[in-house]
Amino acid sequence: MTLSALSSDSSAKSSNLIYDLHCHSDQSDGILSPEALVSRAKAQNVSVLALTDHDTVAGVARAQQQAQVEGLDIIPGIEFSSQWNGRGVHIVGLNIDLASPSLLSAVHQQEQQREERAHQIAEKLESMGVARAYEGARQHAPEGVVGRPHFAAYLVEQGHCKNIAQAFKKYLGAGKPGDIKQMWPELEEVVQWVLQANGTAVLAHPKKYNMTRTKLCAMVADFKEAGGQAIEVVSGKQLDADTRDIARIAQKYSLLGSCGSDFHSPGGAWQELGNFPKLPESIEPVWSSWQ
Ligand SMILES: [Zn+2]
Ligand SMILES: [Zn+2]
Repeated sequence: MTLSALSSDSSAKSSNLIYDLHCHSDQSDGILSPEALVSRAKAQNVSVLALTDHDTVAGVARAQQQAQVEGLDIIPGIEFSSQWNGRGVHIVGLNIDLASPSLLSAVHQQEQQREERAHQIAEKLESMGVARAYEGARQHAPEGVVGRPHFAAYLVEQGHCKNIAQAFKKYLGAGKPGDIKQMWPELEEVVQWVLQANGTAVLAHPKKYNMTRTKLCAMVADFKEAGGQAIEVVSGKQLDADTRDIARIAQKYSLLGSCGSDFHSPGGAWQELGNFPKLPESIEPVWSSWQ
C-alpha cells in the first residue's frame, strides 16, 4: 500500500494532516455510501481516512477507488464486536490485509453472529408487542446485516417510539431487552484476528463503556496482554479531561494513540468527519508504526 500523505510528511507526529481513523458507511450502520463518505471526508480536509464498518470490509475497495479520484489515503479497517467480562467492547483493526484468510473467516463468523443476534432481538421485541420485528428491521437495512439501528428505525416507523433515541432508551440500549451481546467472541480472540491480518489492533472509544477507571484499566491491561497495540485517545466529541485521562492510560500501558470521529451520518448526534481534538503531543500516533 502506498500512503502518499504519510510518505510526503516525514514528521507525522507534528503534522497538521487530519487522520480520521474510525467511521462507518452504509455497509454497516452508517448512512452514506463508501463513495459519498470519502467525498465528504475530502470536503472536511481529511488526508487519511480509515473505513471501519462493523464486522465487515465490504466497503473498503469502493472507498479506495473513490479516494483515488479525490486524492486522499484510505486505511483498510474494520470495527469488530467482542466481549470482555460479559461486556460488549469494540476493537478496531487498522491497516489490515483484506485478503487475509483469517480476516475473511472472522468476518464470516461475525456475520453469522449478527444474523443470529438480529433474530434474538426480534424475538425479544415481539414478546414486547412489536409485530414482525425482523422483517421490519430488514427493510431498513437494504445493504447489510440487520443491527440495532435498523430495529430502532422500525420501532419509530411503527409508532412504538417517537424517535431513535427513545427506541434505544426503551428497547435497545445497554441493559434493555434488545441489548444482546453475550454471543460476541472474547476480546483476546478478536485481537488475534487483527494481528493475523497484519493489522494494528485498537481499543475503540474507551470512554463509551461507562466502566469505572479500575475496570477500564483492567480491560486495557488484558487488551495489551493479548497483543493490542493502540487505543483511541480521541473519539469524536469528548471532554478534554477524558482525552487527558485516556492519554495517561495509553502511556501507562505503552499503547499508541489513535483518533477518529466514529462518524455514522451527517447531522444529528454523530461527530462530523475529521472534526475532533488533536492527539496530545505526548502520544505516539498509531500511524507512526506504519511508516
Ligand atoms: Zn464502536
Ligand atoms: Zn464505530
